[in-house]
Amino acid sequence: LMAGLEKLRELPAETRDGQRIALQVNTGLFTDISRSLQRGAEGVGLYRTEIPFMIRDRFPSEEEQQRIYREQLQSFAPHPVTMRTLDVGGDKALPYFPIVEDNPFLGWRGIRVTLDHPEIFTTQLRAMLRASEGLDNLRILLPMVSSVFEVEEAQQLIHRAWLEVCEEGADILLPPVGAMIEVPAAVYQARALAQRVDFLSVGTNDLTQYLLAVDRNNRRVADLYNFYHPAVLHALAQIVAAAAAEGKPVSVCGEMAGDPGTALLLVAMGVEVLSMNAPNLLKVKAAIRNVARSDLEQLLAEVLQMDNGEVIEAYVALQLERAG
Ligand code: PEP
Ligand code: MG
Repeated sequence: LMAGLEKLRELPAETRDGQRIALQVNTGLFTDISRSLQRGAEGVGLYRTEIPFMIRDRFPSEEEQQRIYREQLQSFAPHPVTMRTLDVGGDKALPYFPIVEDNPFLGWRGIRVTLDHPEIFTTQLRAMLRASEGLDNLRILLPMVSSVFEVEEAQQLIHRAWLEVCEEGADILLPPVGAMIEVPAAVYQARALAQRVDFLSVGTNDLTQYLLAVDRNNRRVADLYNFYHPAVLHALAQIVAAAAAEGKPVSVCGEMAGDPGTALLLVAMGVEVLSMNAPNLLKVKAAIRNVARSDLEQLLAEVLQMDNGEVIEAYVALQLERAG
């Protein structure tokens, strides 16, 4: 099977009726770079910057961060590299920055932490910007956004950091800035958020957890954590429509993008960029090349009428099996 998939590496991710999809990769560790390039990733849709922070015993300095980020940007250039600003809290702990809370997933996470610590945020932004000099393939992504004020405040800090490094003599373009849609509030604010940013990126891991009120890491409720739940699918359709109404691109970087069944439903909705873990790239490409977008739209229309996630999952699997 793997040998068959290998042949796909150089072929585009394109449906039978010519819909081209960009397949990007999620990275974090240095070792993700080579396995992503080997499988033909068209850039990075989600670089989880907290991972290099997690494997150290103190905050990396601006220079250290710049080196780490440069490696990512250079390896994938001229493809874009989407760097998410530090997303700690919840399930992502830094040993040297303890956060103790009764409800970590509802607490001090992601952009909430970095806006309360502008010095941590600004150091990271300066490192990203300086790392991008001469490459210009950096995109900045904001995690755990739940209101437009957070985006506006973050954009001011990004702009200030950019002016600073330019005044210091660097020659850098102001990068595109995007917001993650991963909490229910952001679904209902997707249009207002899309007006303020250059792109949206859906984090379906957290979005599913928050929509279904099911801890993504709790085995006892793992059966309830289902990407095919109608609430998840309808939320995604609504996000895509909001982005389209504002003329802004939307990508998906959660695990849904790396599962052939849900990836095809996303394509049917109009998502044109999918970002996933490297091992999933070729099987998702194979699935996309095997179907017509028009058939997928038909399947999506049927699925959006259904009320039961398990039935939807089984139905999609059956249809894909029939398609070969
Ligand atoms: C997500 O929540 O879907 C996501 C991509 O981010 P993470 O898994 O890092 O929380
Ligand atoms: Mg997330």
